[in-house]
Amino acid sequence: MAQTALLTAETVDDPWRNAQRQFDAAADLLGLEAGTRAFLREAQRQLIVNFPVKMDDGSVRMFEGYRVQHNLARGPAKGGIRFHPGVTLSEVKALAMWMTWKCAAAGIPFGGAKGGVVVDPKRLSLGELERLTRRYAAEISVLIGPERDIPAPDVNTTPQVMAWIMDTMSMSAGYSIPACVTGKPLSVGGSEGRNEATGRGVAVVALRACAHMGREPRQSTVAVEGFGNAGSIAARLMAADGFAIRAVSDTGGAIWSDKPLPVLDVIEHKKRTGSVAGFPGTRAISDAELLVSPVDVLVPAALENQITGANAGRIQAKLILEAANGPVTPDADEILHSRGVTVVPDIIANAGGVTVSYFEWVQDLQSFFWEEGEINKRLEHIMTASFETAWEAAEHLHVPLRLGAYTVAVQRVAEATTARGIYP
Ligand code: NAD
Repeated sequence: MAQTALLTAETVDDPWRNAQRQFDAAADLLGLEAGTRAFLREAQRQLIVNFPVKMDDGSVRMFEGYRVQHNLARGPAKGGIRFHPGVTLSEVKALAMWMTWKCAAAGIPFGGAKGGVVVDPKRLSLGELERLTRRYAAEISVLIGPERDIPAPDVNTTPQVMAWIMDTMSMSAGYSIPACVTGKPLSVGGSEGRNEATGRGVAVVALRACAHMGREPRQSTVAVEGFGNAGSIAARLMAADGFAIRAVSDTGGAIWSDKPLPVLDVIEHKKRTGSVAGFPGTRAISDAELLVSPVDVLVPAALENQITGANAGRIQAKLILEAANGPVTPDADEILHSRGVTVVPDIIANAGGVTVSYFEWVQDLQSFFWEEGEINKRLEHIMTASFETAWEAAEHLHVPLRLGAYTVAVQRVAEATTARGIYP
């Protein structure tokens, strides 16, 4: 009995199983041909690396990392790198598969990939972090490169980390290869607008979703889980559009405010203290309370599996924008749909990051850089188009928005796969 319960819990929370389950629903609806379905259901390449890093005290520590390429049918693989103690191969495979669908839904000519290292970077000195990054980059250099697979930032990885990866690849080649990674600092071929792109894209789809739902942003309250790159910028730009941000959280704690939060001040407070916790005039709540708080819009922007079968029935928001990847499990999706909650899926909601990463790669390859206004305009155009296409597909098929978006994305990857044929 105990073993059954354990197996069930593992299955429910396993990101790769969840990713395959989401794909299966789209494949069923599309009536995907069996061979194509079997191919797209698996990750094409999985690299596991175990590598040593010299620590400041002179000792040598071993670390485990991954790079997974889910699919390359539509172009080079693309996907971020995560440094987190909870990283697993299953998680990285799921994130790689979601990247494939995200690029396809956005109409960007990339396949999907993801990488990760099992590490808590907050426990490393800057020197240790640099050596870990460089050695991990060297280990996965057998897979990455401008025409092959292009990493980018994800949880706990920054433009500085991307610059070290770019330098490591360049030193081994003997010349600079800026296009081998995106999300770099501007000084080494980064793009204007990249740092803000994911949050900006979330803000764009927030307005589109509200327009379709007849919801007025100025009368909508919002809770944001995870006040990092994606969450803090989404909060700032949504506040600028009139949404009232009432709750935010990070690993240091969650806060609730009876009045709209001054998001710029919260960002300053977090810069100074390391967390949103303790922001003046707010009440401390738990992260679990934030998720079910009385708001109209919920923006999970931290990690996977935050809204599950266990709490989906208590979510009060009518609109969920998945700034994070995989925050809502398939079980939760079913409950939310039956309760009339609209979920804008990750592959649509957080595609702003990979979209401007694509612009960065194009600019690096051409050594010709665009102005921020141009980048934001193109970003808004792509976000709007992919949102509207997914919305139309969902309406047409009478299915939830995630499934609508998946049918568009999976169909595009399947078409590319069929056009190329099975090698040899
Ligand atoms: P980040 O490291 O900048 O921020 C993550 C934030 O989440 C931090 O503030 C952290 O304290 C918080 N957090 C982590 N666990 C938490 C928990 N249990 N409860 C509350 N807060 C928690 O990372 P990011 O780049 O903003 O990524 C966040 C999510 O967005 C991830 O799912 C990532 O895959 C996704 N995403 C990021 C990008 C990007 O361009 N950075 C693009 C697409 C999707």
